[in-house]
Amino acid sequence: MSVVLPGSLVNGQPATLGVMGGGQLGRMFVHAAQAMGYYTAVLDPDPASPAGRVSHHHIQTDYLDEQGLAQLMQRCAAITTEFENVPAPALFTLGAHRFVAPGSDAVAIAQDRAAEKAHFVKCGVPVAPHAVIETEAQLAAVGDELLPGILKTSRLGYDGKGQVRVKTRAELAAAWAELKQVPCVLEKMLPLQDECSVIVARGGTGEMVHFPVQRNLHRGGILAVTEVNPGVIDPALAQQAIEATKAIAEGLQYVGVLCVEFFVLQGGQGGGRLVVNEIAPRPHNSGHYTLDACDQSQFDLQVRTLAGLPLTPPRQHSPAIMLNLLGDLWQELGSDPNSCPPWDKVLALPGTHLHLYGKLSARKGRKMGHLNITGATPEAVRATALQACALLGIEPF
Ligand code: ADP
Ligand code: MG
Repeated sequence: MSVVLPGSLVNGQPATLGVMGGGQLGRMFVHAAQAMGYYTAVLDPDPASPAGRVSHHHIQTDYLDEQGLAQLMQRCAAITTEFENVPAPALFTLGAHRFVAPGSDAVAIAQDRAAEKAHFVKCGVPVAPHAVIETEAQLAAVGDELLPGILKTSRLGYDGKGQVRVKTRAELAAAWAELKQVPCVLEKMLPLQDECSVIVARGGTGEMVHFPVQRNLHRGGILAVTEVNPGVIDPALAQQAIEATKAIAEGLQYVGVLCVEFFVLQGGQGGGRLVVNEIAPRPHNSGHYTLDACDQSQFDLQVRTLAGLPLTPPRQHSPAIMLNLLGDLWQELGSDPNSCPPWDKVLALPGTHLHLYGKLSARKGRKMGHLNITGATPEAVRATALQACALLGIEPF
């Protein structure tokens, strides 16, 4: 890979970085790339996509459209992706002509829960007891020790979608039928004490830097709150999570920003309580606090890895809490389309940083934005976050 210097000319064009997908993650990537002096191009079929709206170029085609992909390559010196369900063949096509990070191999593994789990096992990182279910015979062979469990589609699940909780074999069979008998993974339901995640950035020559371990609270399968202070996660567990994340990234020969999500199991002591859940081959919702609480954000590191720039360890300078702002907050305000959460009151609280993604319609469960809260101490941050929750109608935590 060659280095794409910010503000340079590449084949007579301003150095341009491309992204497959125009959602909020693409938008924040575009913001970071532009702040550093790059031009940007987004490929997303939606004319109102959050990233397309703020990019120099927006190519409005399907992800597999040959002309769209050709335009993206013509514009861009290097290309990344912002959602894991970008068809791997599209990344493969792009990768034949341009530097693409992460590569199609890593993305293909992250797109498939069965392949993902096999990779974790290969890297020696503990996973939840599970079974792959692709045939009636595999369904019949499931051991009772996996129940109660969660049946998850191998592909295309996110925010708890494509998952059914099952207690008995009868419920399992019904759930698989409900999921149209697509390839699935059945996971044993584990008693969770906490969930956490680690974000690393790995460069083309194998150098790696990481952010601190985040503690994540999910509600209804969707991330609700991320808290990042020294001590939210036991330091020995945190160290173990960081080592596991690095091993997973290394094993994929990964280039780019990678998030690994973990479960911390109830009971017991020490490292045996950490189980890997899944990976995201891109910046992650649980890393949005880095925009305001760290000297480099996860999107800055995505830009650096894509452009072949040096990686220096990011430093968290403030304790932080992130609150996800879901469409539910708007819906609770009633049917008046002009109604809006009381941002003026929220922004009157010290250390609040509002990020809205420019989405015009608020649906239940839709990620509309996030609120980062920073402060001098973890206690101050928490107190402010709870005040913001009260103003916005978010359940306290
Ligand atoms: P998604 O791809 O939708 O994020 P996950 O597999 O991460 O799917 O599951 C969403 C959430 O469901 C997790 O963050 C966790 O709270 C809960 N969950 C998933 N698998 C298990 C499990 N095996 N045991 C207990 N809780 C689980
Ligand atoms: Mg998840």
